[in-house]
Amino acid sequence: MNKQDIERIKQLLSAPKKIVIVPHKNPDGDAIGSTLGLYHYLLKGNHQATVITPNDYPKFLKWMPSESSILKYDSKTQECKDLINEADIIFTLDFNAFHRTGHMENVLAESKGLKIMIDHHQAPDDYATFMYSDVSMSSTCQMIYHFIEMLEDLNELDSNIATCLYAGIMTDTGSFRFASTTSTTHKVVADLIEKGAKNSDIHNNVYDTNSYNRLQLLGCALNNLKVIPESKAAYITLSQDELNKYNYSKGDTEGVVNYGLSLDGVALAAIFIEDKQEGIIKISLRSKGNFSVNEMSRTHFNGGGHTNAAGGKSYLSLKDTIEKFISILPSYNKALNDE
Ligand code: 5GP
Ligand code: MN
Repeated sequence: MNKQDIERIKQLLSAPKKIVIVPHKNPDGDAIGSTLGLYHYLLKGNHQATVITPNDYPKFLKWMPSESSILKYDSKTQECKDLINEADIIFTLDFNAFHRTGHMENVLAESKGLKIMIDHHQAPDDYATFMYSDVSMSSTCQMIYHFIEMLEDLNELDSNIATCLYAGIMTDTGSFRFASTTSTTHKVVADLIEKGAKNSDIHNNVYDTNSYNRLQLLGCALNNLKVIPESKAAYITLSQDELNKYNYSKGDTEGVVNYGLSLDGVALAAIFIEDKQEGIIKISLRSKGNFSVNEMSRTHFNGGGHTNAAGGKSYLSLKDTIEKFISILPSYNKALNDE
């Protein structure tokens, strides 16, 4: 963001505004952490702010400060539409195109409020008046920290803001282990701890609140793990019947794809999860090194994301989706074996 943009945003935020903050559909830790972190910051400027998520999110995120104030568009549609239509400013966080908000796409596209995008996904759409897009960033939460820093307002950072931002940086960096974690990320995190983020409690709230069923489902997923050595690839499947057997609830499969990538010699990992209600196979792809799962997902699986982490979907059956995945792998063999 250039100085001029920052000055204009400072000016805009110098008087109380009606503000809506929106993350992508199926929000993850970074989406909830960044929207709530910004929410707490804006409240300190006496703005009327509301976080609206397209839909619900996992239980392991339902402890963040003011999480209960979040409105879900799919259950409070009219109230949310009114807020969006009346908003002076709409912050769109952790996504790069309106269609990533699912059913909110049209209402956002038609809304009059000024848009500010803060996001770290590749190939952002050009809808925002102010765009802070940086694919090198570990997380949108880290960008919210830098945004507040650019507004010269870091002295406003309190334990609520710090807690939310810490949670999102932690989840989007795989607990500070992915390549996107830089020395700056660690400096930001150090400051968040100084400002009151209780790091050990946050780890516990997110990672150590599993249900027995979730661990059994993980066992089932690991049993289904297949390896394709010549492509340095591994994949996991979960059918709707398997999800039902272990009483699947939202978020239970979060992170499971990473087990494939933890295998020695594997550079590409995928998980294919059947969703009969939506009529799709939800796909998550992860990679090591320079191999771009963003490209793979954009080309073959109706999705996108980052170089090492991308999502997508397939309208084929689970079996046909796997066949498609296996059939495209040889064209990537060279790139994968170079990793
Ligand atoms: P996940 O596999 O956890 O759903 O997604 C991995 C990463 O890719 C996340 O940063 C997520 O926001 C992004 N992502 C998931 N699905 C899509 C998609 O359809 N399009 C784009 N551009 N990014 C996606
Ligand atoms: Mn993110």
